[in-house]
Amino acid sequence: MRYSKAFVPTLKEVPKDATTPSHVLLLRGGFVRMIGSGIYEMLPLGRRVLAKIERTIRREMDDAGAQEVLMPALLPAEYFQETGRYDSFGGALFRLKDRKGAEYNLGPTHEEIITDMVRRDVKSYRQLPLNLYQIQMKFRDEPRPRAGILRCREFLMKDAYSFDVDEAHALESYAVMRAAYHRIFKHLGLDYRVVDADSGAMGGSTSAEFQVLVQTGEDALVVCSSCDYAANVEVAETTLPTDEKDTSDSPAAEKLHTPGVGSIEDVVAFLAKTLPDISAARMLKSLLYLVDEKLVMAVVRGDDDLNEIRLARTLGVDEVFMASEEDVKKATGAAVGFAGPVGFEGEVIIDPAAAAVTDAITGANETDRHLVHVRHGRDFEARVESVRMVKQGDPCPKCSAPLESYRGIEGGHVFVLGTHYSKKMGATFLDPSGEEKPVVMGCYGIGVSRLMAAAIEQHHDDDGIIWPMSIAPYQVILTPLGKAAGPLEAAEALYEELRVLGVEALLDDRAERPGVKFKDADLLGIPLRVTIGQRGLDEGLLELKRRDAKDAEKLPIAEMAARVATLVTELGGELTPRSAKA
Ligand SMILES: [Zn+2]
Repeated sequence: MRYSKAFVPTLKEVPKDATTPSHVLLLRGGFVRMIGSGIYEMLPLGRRVLAKIERTIRREMDDAGAQEVLMPALLPAEYFQETGRYDSFGGALFRLKDRKGAEYNLGPTHEEIITDMVRRDVKSYRQLPLNLYQIQMKFRDEPRPRAGILRCREFLMKDAYSFDVDEAHALESYAVMRAAYHRIFKHLGLDYRVVDADSGAMGGSTSAEFQVLVQTGEDALVVCSSCDYAANVEVAETTLPTDEKDTSDSPAAEKLHTPGVGSIEDVVAFLAKTLPDISAARMLKSLLYLVDEKLVMAVVRGDDDLNEIRLARTLGVDEVFMASEEDVKKATGAAVGFAGPVGFEGEVIIDPAAAAVTDAITGANETDRHLVHVRHGRDFEARVESVRMVKQGDPCPKCSAPLESYRGIEGGHVFVLGTHYSKKMGATFLDPSGEEKPVVMGCYGIGVSRLMAAAIEQHHDDDGIIWPMSIAPYQVILTPLGKAAGPLEAAEALYEELRVLGVEALLDDRAERPGVKFKDADLLGIPLRVTIGQRGLDEGLLELKRRDAKDAEKLPIAEMAARVATLVTELGGELTPRSAKA
């Protein structure tokens, strides 16, 4: 492509409301444009990137035995009504009517439609397994579209659905797709981790997220610095740091007057004069929760946070609710901030890290009073359960190496659905003994347009995007300098050589100053740049620079095309050789 003919409407200014790097750079680089809240059009460069992501996905899906279909985006309402999702999707579902008043919705996902596709034809176990996928626009009425194409209202997704005769076979399909996802994410050049969402009844995961590690993601994760353990912070586990197990003796508990200091920070500051070695790690934070109309006390270390999801799981309930100020007063006889486990009448859950503190400070269940030298097992009894929020530096539950905090963008998910949809919609088959059974489904999504943004979140610098070679809109940009005819002629010759070798080149033939050309090349993030200047030509040399490196290499003109083609391949790009012009 010649830059002078290309439709690349770059912007000089950073657009208002754009804060995340991918949002800013996609708009500035002329890859996408917003035409309405959360609605984006793909301009030529953006379309090229998407097409490459799609190509990678298609290849791996096809290799995994999946077959591509294309379902409509405009769906008669009866399908979502059949499963109840026409209502339960709530405000996220785009609903519309045709001229006759018939109801429709735009597809936010396609379980109903694919289940219908299969139930119409699949009658026997002989027709299974099946795996069908599509790459298509999805519509969700996000309450607050933001971050450009990371969270918008119309977006490109790959969704695949597997159909099996039983759960064991469904798990095999799931494993095949999970492996395919690994190949896809690797090929796209993304730093990602698989986060298991749960452990199924059959042992092993039946639901996992492929999280692209970035600093700007919506999901808080902990990731092991050594092994492959990664988890959402809300469900992450950790082991107790062994070096923090304290076995020293402590004096008897003692009540201290702590007027008006209820928070951990205030108590630590207040007691610092009397107890020189006081720290938040020696404080026990006692929190009261309403669980099935009873008050339960949860105790974590002062420097830890309570994980409400883990507490609810520990107590075998769906959700826990923080007790009201009034309930706290009634249960402890003290103002909020002075609750403690000693003498508390009710169930007490203590986190192992808190239970290991042998000389602790707690509220005394008396306003303006704290207890010092408190010890679990001596001064109070409590059930020891891991209920704190895992944080940076905690040991990995698998290998004990320190965990690191990350944010992630969910780029894909794999999920065993079971028979939820097939039972509701009557997608059944006859097994070898003639018994009618519901098909067992799995579903597998990838946010195609979202991955384009995620790649930028991971690969950029102050000057612009640094595309991984596998998804770059062009693999090399040729930058002839100056007004003389020589550099442009040499660039044209190289351009033709590269075309025959199958390298995708963008030839910057614009009559712009070198500074402008270099700036645009950096902004667009083309992985390789060949600079063609008159001085170099006089020496018979061209300059090759990688977008992700500082230094450039000089090569004889005759060797450049082959060198570029080799580098493209080495960096994960593909060549599509063409025949030379007659
Ligand atoms: Zn580990």
